[in-house]
Amino acid sequence: MIAERWAQLRAEIPAHVRIVAVTKSLPATAIAEAIAAGATEIGENYLQEARAKFASFLEGSPEPVEGFTKHFIGHVQSNKAKAIVETFDIVQSVDRIEAGLALAKAAAAAGKRLPILIQLNISPADRFGVRPEDAPELARELRAQESLLLDGVMAIGPLGASRADTSRAFELAAGVFKTIGGTTLSLGMSDDWREALRAGSTMVRLGSYLFGPRPAPARV
Ligand SMILES: *Cc1c(COP(=O)(O)O)cnc(C)c1O
Repeated sequence: MIAERWAQLRAEIPAHVRIVAVTKSLPATAIAEAIAAGATEIGENYLQEARAKFASFLEGSPEPVEGFTKHFIGHVQSNKAKAIVETFDIVQSVDRIEAGLALAKAAAAAGKRLPILIQLNISPADRFGVRPEDAPELARELRAQESLLLDGVMAIGPLGASRADTSRAFELAAGVFKTIGGTTLSLGMSDDWREALRAGSTMVRLGSYLFGPRPAPARV
C-alpha cells in the first residue's frame, strides 16, 4: 500500500520536488515501511515521540541506517532546542527569533550548522508561523547566526479552504520565499499538494496520503 502510493507519487511529482514522509502518531514501523518504499526524508512533529521511534527503528534494523534525513516540523519550544538539534537534521518550523536563537546556541554547542526554514502563517486558523510581512526581518536576524543555515520557508495551507483560497495562500508563501531566498519552499500536505506544486513548491510533506488515516496524536 505504502509502496504503491510512493511509486504513484514519485511518478506524478516532478523529480526535483522532495517528498517528506510524515510519520507523526504512527509506529516506528511506518518509518521502516516508508524507507523500504523509497523515502529518504522523514518528518516528525513531537520531540519525545520522534526520539523513541528513531531509537527503536535504529536498534531494530539489521544494518546501521543513517541514510535518511530527519525533519522537525512541529512547534519549536526554546527549552527543547538542544534535544531538537541532537535528534533532527533540519528544522522547518522556526517562526520567531527566540526559537531561532535557542537553536543557534544548541547548534553552535554541538559544532553543527543547522539547516532551518522559516514557518510562515498563511492561514487565519493557524496558531503558529510568522506573519508574511514580518518574515524578511526574521530572515535577516536568523541569517546573522553563523550556526544556522536559513534555506527557505515552510507553510501549512488553510485547512478546509476552497481550492482557490488554498492556491492564493500558497502564492503568498511563494512570494515571501522569493524575497527571502534559499532553495526550499516546503508547501503541500495530503489534501493540497497539487495546488502547492502549481505554486512552485520544492518539498511536499505527506502523511495520510501515504499511510492512510492517522490515530489521534499521542501528545507528550
Ligand atoms: C501532520 C503534518 C503534515 C502531514 O499531514 P497530512 O495531511 O497527513 O499529509 C505535514 N506538515 C505538517 C507541519 C504537519 O503537522
